[in-house]
Amino acid sequence: YSPSEPPKIHRLDESVVNRIAAGEVIQRPVSAVKELVENSLDAHSTSINVVVKDGGLKLIQVSDDGHGIRCEDLPILCERHTTSKLTNYEDLQSIKSMGFRGEALASMTYVGHVTVTTITPGKLHGYRQAIILFLFLHFICLIKCLREKVSYRDGVMEDEPKPCAAVKGTQIMVENLFYNMIARRKTFQNSADDYSKIVDLLSRFAIHHINVSFSCRKHGASRADVHSVTTSSRLDSIRSVYGVSVALNLMKIEIPDSDPSSSVFEMDGLISNSNYVAKKTTMVLFINVILVWFPELPEPLLLKLLSGIVYMRFLNLERSFDFPDRLVECTALKRAIEIVYAATLPKASKPFIYMSIVLPPEHVDVNVHPTKREVSLLNQEFIINMIQSAVESKLRNSNEARTFQEQT
Ligand code: ADP
Ligand code: MG
Repeated sequence: YSPSEPPKIHRLDESVVNRIAAGEVIQRPVSAVKELVENSLDAHSTSINVVVKDGGLKLIQVSDDGHGIRCEDLPILCERHTTSKLTNYEDLQSIKSMGFRGEALASMTYVGHVTVTTITPGKLHGYRQAIILFLFLHFICLIKCLREKVSYRDGVMEDEPKPCAAVKGTQIMVENLFYNMIARRKTFQNSADDYSKIVDLLSRFAIHHINVSFSCRKHGASRADVHSVTTSSRLDSIRSVYGVSVALNLMKIEIPDSDPSSSVFEMDGLISNSNYVAKKTTMVLFINVILVWFPELPEPLLLKLLSGIVYMRFLNLERSFDFPDRLVECTALKRAIEIVYAATLPKASKPFIYMSIVLPPEHVDVNVHPTKREVSLLNQEFIINMIQSAVESKLRNSNEARTFQEQT
């Protein structure tokens, strides 16, 4: 190399590009679990079961009872940017799913070995098709379901799908995660593994999506570490996931508690009372963005806003609609609530907080990357202040009630 000669620029190999991109989407085992569980939720599953071996490095297996995948889609299932959730850019206006980029499964195949077993309604293939067609010619048996098993590597399907015993839904297995990223694999092998993060993630999903049952266990273990059943009560769900002592000491909290029109956002949650004792804060925060907050705008403009075109240009946000039921973290809000607890309660206990916040889109500076969980809210100060005072008044009431009880 001589200073007079600039280094040559060349185009990176596609496989290198894909592996780098995949390493960003799937940063650690728990990111793969999150993507798989979100896919299961998007497939309208009512039961999602996770099995993990070696903190996710050996095996992550997510099984659901959702709508399955079409047989003819299997060849492109794990290619980059293939999705069933979005066709046109304009579809973003009505997107209700958590995914739409078609990147997660592809990414997993670049950093691990992926096997998909899925129910494929309406399509029979190969010799089976011939035999069954022959046997049941008089019946319209093509709607019969078959289950297919197929493996992928580097975005590509390895062989033809193999038929296997039929069960509802989809099972996705990721084996040997980071087998081709030695340094990354080592960091996870040496550090305490990701299993506790995976359990934590599923606990959070379980208490939010109470109409879905979740389980999470280590491979070979008979006992599940997260186990929830479908219920209509969030409190029941918290009881089964976080334990009786947590559920016993929670109070309902809501914003607005009276006049809904006066507020720019809604919050609904459960927070611990003055009897609750814990050394660490648990904060489960979901953010929903809804797009109904421009009643004063003329309809054509409103429609454009909904479709995201104008809105995205205005705020220069790329992915403003990737945000239904998002599990997020907001450190500023968490700290603010901790401060209220420390100031209001004599015992220095850390709180348990579950909150689901509904915001108009202009209040969320949405994550720019699918893996980024920390959000910052626009007008954050205002929202945090509102929540702080709601928490404070709840706490004072509960504390007074308790002091009163103790005195009498
Ligand atoms: P995205 O979720 O952004 O569409 P993914 O790579 O996560 O992209 O998934 C690609 C496609 O595979 C999805 O659009 C969906 O059609 C299908 N898919 C993935 N997981 C499941 C599942 N558990 N059940 C049904 N379909 C699934
Ligand atoms: Mg997805």
